[in-house]
Amino acid sequence: MKNAKNSKKWVGVLSGKGGVGKTSLAASLASLANEDHSLNVAVLDCDVDAPNLAIIMPPRTENEVKTKEVFATMKAEFLEMKCTHCKQCIEAHFCEFNALTWNEEKEIPEIDYLACEGCSACKVLCPEHAFELHVVKSGEIISYISKAKGIPLVYGKTKLGSTTSGKLVSDLKNFVKEMESIKNCDLLLVDGPPGIGCPVIATVSGLDYVITITEPTPSGLHDLLRAIEVVQQFNIPFGIVINKHDIQSSFQQRFQDFIKETGHVVIGGIPFDLSVPEAMSFSIPVVDYAPNSPASRAIREIYTKLKVILWNSS
Ligand code: SF4
Ligand code: SF4
Repeated sequence: MKNAKNSKKWVGVLSGKGGVGKTSLAASLASLANEDHSLNVAVLDCDVDAPNLAIIMPPRTENEVKTKEVFATMKAEFLEMKCTHCKQCIEAHFCEFNALTWNEEKEIPEIDYLACEGCSACKVLCPEHAFELHVVKSGEIISYISKAKGIPLVYGKTKLGSTTSGKLVSDLKNFVKEMESIKNCDLLLVDGPPGIGCPVIATVSGLDYVITITEPTPSGLHDLLRAIEVVQQFNIPFGIVINKHDIQSSFQQRFQDFIKETGHVVIGGIPFDLSVPEAMSFSIPVVDYAPNSPASRAIREIYTKLKVILWNSS
C-alpha cells in the first residue's frame, strides 16, 4: 500500500494559452507519480470549457463513470401572459447583451438563450414584470477511475451558453475535496484552463504549487508572462517547464535572456519529440507509450525535480 509524504499537495499545470503541452505533461506526471510507491495520485481537469485530460486518460470502464449536474447559471424567462406588447424592452434597449429581439408577428420579445447573461435588467425594467430569472444547468462534474494505471480522474464540463465557468471550477474543487479517493491522495495534479480569466483564477486559488508550461516563441513568452502574473497575485510558488525547448528560432536568445534576467525557476525542458502527439493519438500518457523517448526522459527528470521542490525528497 502506498504511503503518504505527510503533506498533501495540489499542483497546477498552467499555460497562458492552449496547445503548449499542458495536458500531456499533467497526464505523464500523474503516471510517474503513480509508479512512485510512496505516493497516491489523482488528477483534476479544471479546463471546464475544453476538458481533454479525459482523452489521454479515458475511463477504465464506462460503467464506473459518475456524473453530477451543476446548476449555477442564471437565465431570463419571458412570461407571455403578463406582456402588454408595449415594446419598451426593445425600444429602450433593456438588454445590453442583445439577447432580446422583437417577434413582429406575435408582438412579443424573444430571448436568445445563448446570449442571455442573466443580468436581471429585463426583470427589473419591464413595467409588467414579464421576465423572471431562473437558475439553469451550467455544467457537469464527471469522475471515474482512468485506464491510466487506475488513477482517479475528475473533470468539469461547461454547458453550451453557460456564463459561469469560474463558478463551475470552484464547485469542481469543492466537490473533489469531499471525494474519498481524492481526500487520501498525496498529490493532486490540476490541469488548468488556458488564459487569465475567471476559470484560471478559480483554479489557481488554493494551489500549493504551479508549473507554468510554455514554448520559446514570442507568443509563448507573452502568454507565460500573463500566466505568471496570475500566479504571483496569489503568492503561489511556481516553476517553468519549457516545451520544445530545443526548437531553432531567432527568438531563443531573447527567451533565454528573459529567464536569466528574471531568475525564475526552470524545472526542466522537454525536447521536440513526435512520440508526444503519437501517444496522444493512442490516448496514453507519453511516459507510458514511449518510456525511453527523449520527451519521456525529460518529463521523468521534471518529476524528480518536482518531488524535491514539493517534499524535499528524490
Ligand atoms: S416584456 Fe415588458 S417591456 Fe417588453 S413588451 Fe412586454 S410588457 Fe413591454
Ligand atoms: S437577463 Fe439580462 S442578459 Fe438576459 S435577457 Fe434579460 S437583460 Fe438580457
